[in-house]
Formats: sequence, structure tokens, C-alpha cells
Amino acid sequence: MAIIVKKAKLNVFEKVYIFEIARGIVVTIGHFCNSLINPHRLPTLNYPEQKRRLLPNYRGRLRLLKNETGELKCTACLLCVKACPANCLTVEAAPATPGAKRTPARYDLDVGRCIFCGLCVEACPFGAIDMNSGIYELADKDPARFIFTKEKLAQERGPQ
Ligand code: SF4
Ligand code: SF4
Repeated sequence: MAIIVKKAKLNVFEKVYIFEIARGIVVTIGHFCNSLINPHRLPTLNYPEQKRRLLPNYRGRLRLLKNETGELKCTACLLCVKACPANCLTVEAAPATPGAKRTPARYDLDVGRCIFCGLCVEACPFGAIDMNSGIYELADKDPARFIFTKEKLAQERGPQ
């Protein structure tokens, strides 16, 4: 079936492009003046001076959570490692102490590989990790700095 597209009829002002160009410039100047008068209504931010307000369910960089006594909640059970589809977690348990909770000797996140899926958080039976850190500025030229160690991941930030 043939589709017929009728050409729009242009009036004499539209045929003489100079008027349309002038109209476009007036619209642009109008937006420019509006931005000067009402800068708070601009959709853009002066990053990095101004930071974006994050939504409560925003997934930032993974962090390790602590209990009331300041100890890591993690028991090095490795369920998060098994759940991670990107193989970016490396967890090693510290030598067991009789009567004491297991703790991780090593908990590394390769954030360069992390896809921020949150499966590790869902897999953790102890609520020992979350992604509510509010940390999203992770760009770096040095790939070595994409490895976040236990100490870095345990730094407090954002809502617990
Ligand atoms: S958010 Fe996803 S990719 Fe990142 S560490 Fe957790 S499970 Fe792995
Ligand atoms: S973060 Fe949770 S799932 Fe991962 S090793 Fe620690 S306790 Fe286990």
C-alpha cells in the first residue's frame, strides 16, 4: 500500500527563510534570558560544585555495614561472592577463633567490573552489605584504584 505524504503548504514568510531564522533566534534569546532570570529552574547542574540529589533507592557503591559495637556484620560466608554475576567480589575468611564470629580477612570489590545489580545485597543473609552509600563518583584513570578493600568499603557514609 502506497503512503502519500502531502507537503505542508508554506506561506510567503516561511518560504523566505530569513523570517524563520529570525524567529528561531528570538526563541533562543528568550530561553537564554529566562535562564539568566531563573537559574534555579535550569535542568542542568554545575557539577562538580553542585551534586545531584539522589533518590532513596539509588544504588551507589557497595559498602560493608557494622553492628552497634562497630564490628563488621559480615561473616565471610561467601554467599555474595556466589551470587555476583560479574565475579567482582573476593572474600577470604579470617582464621577461626573458638566462640567468636567469623570475620572477613579480605573483602575486595572490583568496582570496574561491578554492574550495580544488587544481587550480592539480596544474597547476604546477615544484612552486612548495602548500596545506599550515595557514592557514585567512581571514575578514575588508574584501574588499580577500582579495587576497593575491606577498609574502604567499611567507611561510613549515607543512611545505615
Ligand atoms: S552489585 Fe552485582 S555486580 Fe556488583 S558486586 Fe554486587 S552482585 Fe556483583
Ligand atoms: S557480605 Fe554477607 S553474603 Fe557476603 S560474605 Fe559477608 S555475610 Fe556473607
